[in-house]
Amino acid sequence: MKKLLLLFLSLTILSCASNNHIPGTPEATGETATIYAKSITTADLKSRLYIFASDEFEGRNTGEPGQKKAADFLKNFYINAGIPSPLGGDDYFQDIATEFLRPNLKPSENVLAFVEGSEKPEEIIVISAHLDHLGVVDGEIYNGADDDGSGNVAILEIAEAFQKAVENGNGPKRSILFLHVTGEEKGLLGSKYYVNHPIFPLANTVANLNIDMIGRVDDAHEKKPEFVYLIGSDKLSSELHSLSEDINHKFTKLDLDYRYNDEDDPNRFYYRSDHYNFAKNNIPIIFYFNGTHDNYHRPSDTPDKINYEILQKRTKLIFYTAWELANRENRITVDK
Ligand SMILES: [Zn+2]
Repeated sequence: MKKLLLLFLSLTILSCASNNHIPGTPEATGETATIYAKSITTADLKSRLYIFASDEFEGRNTGEPGQKKAADFLKNFYINAGIPSPLGGDDYFQDIATEFLRPNLKPSENVLAFVEGSEKPEEIIVISAHLDHLGVVDGEIYNGADDDGSGNVAILEIAEAFQKAVENGNGPKRSILFLHVTGEEKGLLGSKYYVNHPIFPLANTVANLNIDMIGRVDDAHEKKPEFVYLIGSDKLSSELHSLSEDINHKFTKLDLDYRYNDEDDPNRFYYRSDHYNFAKNNIPIIFYFNGTHDNYHRPSDTPDKINYEILQKRTKLIFYTAWELANRENRITVDK
């Protein structure tokens, strides 16, 4: 009798354990996601970045003609890919009210595109990167290939992958907003404007994945370049952090480096890019970053110095993470 009871107990415990989450196993991301991840290629990333960070775009200074060319480039990409704007029609621009910009800045705009969720369209995942950079200074063009051309072309590839999934009837359950913000280099202006004038209620905004510089390898990782810095993933939601770890473990196997996530880190990167405006509103975020380098904020941040293999892997990590956020049964919870 005792033995039987023990056997029964241990069987019960075993079956309970198998219902629990197994570390390293994402809940809703599997074979289907890998089909669409294949459309994220080094060739696409490279050809688009060579345009986005070309001299023709004159360093994309907020409000200047080069930045307008960058905004038009993004808009035309979405139109050609059949990815709609959340504003409707062919209006892909969220104009920033002039009183919101600094007096010395000309009018500028965020660029938005949207994949609507099939089951919970009102719940939104925001993927962001800043489209602006430093412009032309003393006759020198600051191309900003890594900062943040890399983030913009990554978003285009992710958007295209989700759109293909939609076209095959495998679109995400929740909606995804692709948000290219302006005025980051002037003080996170575009993202600040967005959270003050959100297209979708912030209460329904599940998470923000922000990309700012993911095309390079810093000195600290010269010997092991398959890495990315993650910042903020555990600050508001432990579920977001473990989800992100699980996805990477299963699909991309990058070395996730958390050194800049330390509250005592003097660089304070958590407070320095657009995700912070979402975090301030209690929306869980992950900031993807490759660290600074000799060409950071210099005219020499050019597309020939990008590591396109690494850029592709990091883009896939963000795509899979977004897929999981958009498709798991319940929206991630804020517990901090
Ligand atoms: Zn940047």
